[in-house]
Amino acid sequence: MTAHRKSNGDTAASFVRRHIGPSARDVTAMLETVGAKSVDALMDETLPASIRQAAPLDLGKPLSETEAIAHMGELAAQNQVFTSLIGQGYSGTILPAVIQRNILENPAWYTAYTPYQPEISQGRLEALLNFQTMICDLTGLDVANASLLDEATAAAEAMALAERHSQVKAKAFFVDKDIHPQTLAVMRTRAEPLGWTLIVGDPLTDLAESDVLGALLQYPGTSGALRDLRPAIAALKAKGALAIIAADLLALTLLASPGELGADIAIGSAQRFGVPMGYGGPHAAYMAVRDALKRSLPGRIVGLSVDSRGMPAYRLALQTREQHIRREKATSNICTAQVLLAVIASMYAVYHGPEGLSQIARNVHRRTAVLASGLRKLGFAPQSENFFDTLSVDAGARRAEIVARAVAEQINLGIGDAALRIALDETTTPATVEAVWRAFGGTFAYAEIDAGTREALPETLKRTTPFLTHPVFHAHRSETEMLRYMRKLSDRDLALDRAMIPLGSCTMKLNATTEMMPLTWPEFGSLHPFVPREQASGYHALFARLERWLCDITGYDAISLQPNSGAQGEYAGLLAIRGYHAARGESHRKICLIPSSAHGTNPASAAMAGMDVVVVACEKNGDVDVGDLRAKAEKHSNDLAAVMITYPSTHGVFEEHIREICDIVHAHGGQVYLDGANLNAQVGLSRPGDYGADVSHLNLHKTFCIPHGGGGPGMGPIGVKAHLAPFLPGHPATDDEAPVGPVSAAPFGSASILTISYIYILMMGGEGLKRATEIAILNANYIAARLDAHFPVLYKNEKGRVAHECIVDPRPLKTTSGVTVDDIAKRLIDYGFHAPTMSFPVPGTLMIEPTESESKAELDRFCDAMIAIRKEIAEVEAGRFKIEASPLRHAPHTVHDIADDDWNRAYTRSEGCFPNGVSRTDKYWCPVGRVDNVYGDRNLVCSCPPVSDYAQAAE
Ligand SMILES: *Cc1c(COP(=O)(O)O)cnc(C)c1O
Repeated sequence: MTAHRKSNGDTAASFVRRHIGPSARDVTAMLETVGAKSVDALMDETLPASIRQAAPLDLGKPLSETEAIAHMGELAAQNQVFTSLIGQGYSGTILPAVIQRNILENPAWYTAYTPYQPEISQGRLEALLNFQTMICDLTGLDVANASLLDEATAAAEAMALAERHSQVKAKAFFVDKDIHPQTLAVMRTRAEPLGWTLIVGDPLTDLAESDVLGALLQYPGTSGALRDLRPAIAALKAKGALAIIAADLLALTLLASPGELGADIAIGSAQRFGVPMGYGGPHAAYMAVRDALKRSLPGRIVGLSVDSRGMPAYRLALQTREQHIRREKATSNICTAQVLLAVIASMYAVYHGPEGLSQIARNVHRRTAVLASGLRKLGFAPQSENFFDTLSVDAGARRAEIVARAVAEQINLGIGDAALRIALDETTTPATVEAVWRAFGGTFAYAEIDAGTREALPETLKRTTPFLTHPVFHAHRSETEMLRYMRKLSDRDLALDRAMIPLGSCTMKLNATTEMMPLTWPEFGSLHPFVPREQASGYHALFARLERWLCDITGYDAISLQPNSGAQGEYAGLLAIRGYHAARGESHRKICLIPSSAHGTNPASAAMAGMDVVVVACEKNGDVDVGDLRAKAEKHSNDLAAVMITYPSTHGVFEEHIREICDIVHAHGGQVYLDGANLNAQVGLSRPGDYGADVSHLNLHKTFCIPHGGGGPGMGPIGVKAHLAPFLPGHPATDDEAPVGPVSAAPFGSASILTISYIYILMMGGEGLKRATEIAILNANYIAARLDAHFPVLYKNEKGRVAHECIVDPRPLKTTSGVTVDDIAKRLIDYGFHAPTMSFPVPGTLMIEPTESESKAELDRFCDAMIAIRKEIAEVEAGRFKIEASPLRHAPHTVHDIADDDWNRAYTRSEGCFPNGVSRTDKYWCPVGRVDNVYGDRNLVCSCPPVSDYAQAAE
């Protein structure tokens, strides 16, 4: 290499080189191992010729990292950061810098995966338990989950939960007219396919005579009105209906909790606990329920259990009731949630503590009360005497003039149907309040009005119960303590910043630092989702280009950027199919064919879209049984809505028959939903839109580099062919007339993280993306080649190739040695690795996906570990020790194993803790031994344990 190559082409190519793990020389060596002549030859052996993409991707010239950041600066400059007092569930907030840098900008947190392997996830599990504790305390309810996607979908989930548990048989649900409009819109979308009716009205007057299964009430209302909801809740209880309250967490620090008011369920957003608005997201929503409803709570719940030594350990509770088990009986499809944002919100509470949060709330309320006094003097009395942080005023004929003057002050007011809304927040200063008065025609000084103002929280609604009493919310007031607490937790976890995470179907690839940088710029972070469009020109330029690129990559004609996860994309895609059939007078088409190997979200989404699932068999080789598919398509020909198929298959193979499958379904009037979770095996090589699919979701948090955040955020935009484009989700803020309603609270979902995928594509270019796909496939075939002799690779195509992942099968070893897939997964921790995907899609197996970002050295380290584990199993087979006495069953080993005085195992400490030359200096130690799942589910503890347990754990 010459030292001074400066052409753009070379610097741009250098990002591709950074993103992709193996060097050119590695690639040569790996090709040799897999027995392929060239990368091209390997692709020819892997993908069916019939689906290969004809023309290369043309995405424009790739940019270098420096150029990409400069370009993002230009886009950012096209966004205007006004002070948004729009409210409607989104508030300005201050993310403490220590949390921004050490969590939001820290790969130890943002590159982690969902904590399915609890032993290597104790840090984020503790943070999530703090989140749940905070939600339980503030809502006054018994059990909370570890986040949902947004407030509007949380409301829809709560309605579904109520439907399951209500004693009222009516399929009608009551919604407070003082609800956020986007919440109502998302609930309408959800209710319609299930045949539920929504009744919108005033809960204090209209509820008594309504025959409803439950009701959603907002507290305080979207108008700002603070009402005593107790009579409404009593009326619901009298019927046997369920009461759900959508509550503002900051307000709850001062107000009687939903639980005290009698609610069964509380939902809402944790955004204003330090999470930037980000033009819509991502933010964590919450849900909390009474104890009796806990087993139906959607989403993930962190609970407490014990490890192999009986020490307390965190884990995900009740996993067996997750949607993937319930499949077509599921009432929720939530998979990826908002873990990183829930962690941030919980840390905001840890940072401020209960006094700090109350003080913030009192300040916000005080400013609002002062604002109200001034407005009254100006003849604009707020519509409600009682409020927390939001006022609605009828501006009459002067409305337009006031809005214009506010905009001239760089302030956005909330523009309701009848009233103007002004919502204050933590960032509101006296100067902001004075500017609002000016917009309304008054020139007061803040101090002058402040003096004569009294507060507006009614005595009967004031909080009297303590909250956040647990020590964790008291012990970290100094930044030093805070910093060390976050560091302590992240040190317990294994994320991509330590080792490869070979989770099949999850695509744990590089989340490059450059891709992450613009996310925390105020020009992307501080925009309220409902600002006037011209203030978000930079965002819209980015959306337009990203949509064009994604169309190019997939062969689809239109994209919706709205869905907040892959599963939400499935749901949106099925609603598009449903809308299409309805528009052609074929609403009776409700049958959805789904192969038995499908991801659990597929049938769950189909059930939510009002479809009936018919399961299609798979053949022994993992392929969809085309004969069975044909028979079922024929049988249901008149009623066939769709097939949902994953490609390449969940077995990690490009099936030859994909075109035929699409043709069969089309011939019977059905549509093809292609689950795009495995797009990382296709980008640049084949396009779903070309070989027969009508719609797909794209997990941007898999293929397009949004980090997994420990279980969210994610984005699941959908691509559709032109005939489905009219049925993409609408939104009251952008397109109220759309035939299909919104699936997310914000029109562009978690808009701010779209910057990550955008920059990735920008820096890779078409050639780079294709190269990434090829290397992802090469890496998977390399692992398959190295491991096959030790753990047979379960599925390959006719030419012996796998796609971007492979399933290895240790089941026969269970017979010969007793070893379980769990033993192997936990033993990998001792070798410093996160386990591959366990028991999906085939129980008892491991699915390995290396991605293109892992170097040959790391792949070898992983393969060496797997092979060493196979040797340990052989020792059990040979009778050196029983499986119960083996290092496999005792895995993972912890510091306790080293420190115990008595060691009476059948193997040495060194064999247990440092197998196969694991480094003694760089060893990852998980903090707990193997976690007992059954114990945790029997003894469900889902909020912070009492201090005595901590004392015990600290011993
Ligand atoms: C990850 C995945 C999904 C679900 O995506 P989420 O973003 O977690 O909702 C659906 N199908 C398949 C095959 C997946 O791997």
